[in-house]
Amino acid sequence: GLRCGIVGLPNVGKSTLFNALSSAKAESANYPFCTIEPNVGIVTVPDERIAVLEDLITPQRTVPAIIEFVDIAGLVRGASKGEGLGNQFLANIREVDAIAHVIRCFEDDNIIHVDGKINPVLDKETIDVELQLKDLETVEKRLVRIGKAARTGDKTAKKEFEAFEKVRLHLEQGKNLRSLVLEEDEKELIDEAFLLTQKPVIYVANVDEKSIHTGNALVEQLKESVKDENAEVVMVCASIESQIAELEDPEEKEMFLEEYQLKESGLNKLIRSAYSILNLITYFTAGVKEVRAWTIERGWKAPKAASVIHTDFERGFIRAEVIKLDDYEKYRTEVALKEAGKLAVEGKEYVVTDGDVMHFRFNV
Ligand code: GDP
Repeated sequence: GLRCGIVGLPNVGKSTLFNALSSAKAESANYPFCTIEPNVGIVTVPDERIAVLEDLITPQRTVPAIIEFVDIAGLVRGASKGEGLGNQFLANIREVDAIAHVIRCFEDDNIIHVDGKINPVLDKETIDVELQLKDLETVEKRLVRIGKAARTGDKTAKKEFEAFEKVRLHLEQGKNLRSLVLEEDEKELIDEAFLLTQKPVIYVANVDEKSIHTGNALVEQLKESVKDENAEVVMVCASIESQIAELEDPEEKEMFLEEYQLKESGLNKLIRSAYSILNLITYFTAGVKEVRAWTIERGWKAPKAASVIHTDFERGFIRAEVIKLDDYEKYRTEVALKEAGKLAVEGKEYVVTDGDVMHFRFNV
């Protein structure tokens, strides 16, 4: 599944947010394949289209998509040199698909800031520097390892060496790798190193209750400082999130959001941003036994999309029957869809689109 790591300086609201996320946790019974560690929260991806299918099919159960949030605490100044529990936590970051970087944008004299002063731009840079130093270390090791072969004229090694040299120069200028423009083949070489500052990032501006609609000067400073990065800034109020999390009843939650004139919870905003920066879409399988949401990357063809259900499905793919959700709502039954010619039979080259209802046919 999709993994999103939560990082940030101490005292910015990470745990508050993480605890709110984890109490919105998925019913773990439906996810036996997920090992649940204490710092991992499994959250279902809210999707109104599931209710539409439920209404049409009345399945025995529904399984929404999930996203895992990993609380990566302990990232402090000096982490790359092993300060705090630095190195171990940096290793955790290597395993995530995206980073949610929480940044304090609330004033509160009672809550100490590690540097004594609230400054979202500096806070962000402090964390960035640690990640950049760690990447530099990885890259320098790699350069030493391939240096000899590159010098003796091995073409592949030379190409790789040059790519990693570019990376090193970029990092030495204090920049994150996600802003480095590379050729496609260079990118492939670099991807193998799982570098930290290359991962997509969402900046989570943690504001106080009174700023949740208006934003504030701190958020503006943060936005300005990241405008050249290919990143999103999401405003949440961790203390509101933790209040929402305490409400069990969905109706109560709805009322609470209304009271604060919020369209959706910060958690939902965060999930939507993760889908958007990672270029993810959802398709559905729908039968009387189960209606289920599956997460894939935009642009995937049918066989690859089927592989998220089972790895064998990609190899054994024969064809797929595809229904557009709008058509399903309009015609309501598969028989009616078929008669109207709205049940398409697609082959290996079909590119799955967001909201498709798929039936796969395959050999095993
Ligand atoms: P972490 O060290 O980043 O995990 O930070 P915590 O989640 O433990 O939060 C540190 C302190 O800030 C706690 O006392 C929280 O109650 C408080 N805090 C977190 N979010 C907010 C917020 O939105 N507004 C205010 N006023 N306090 C907050």
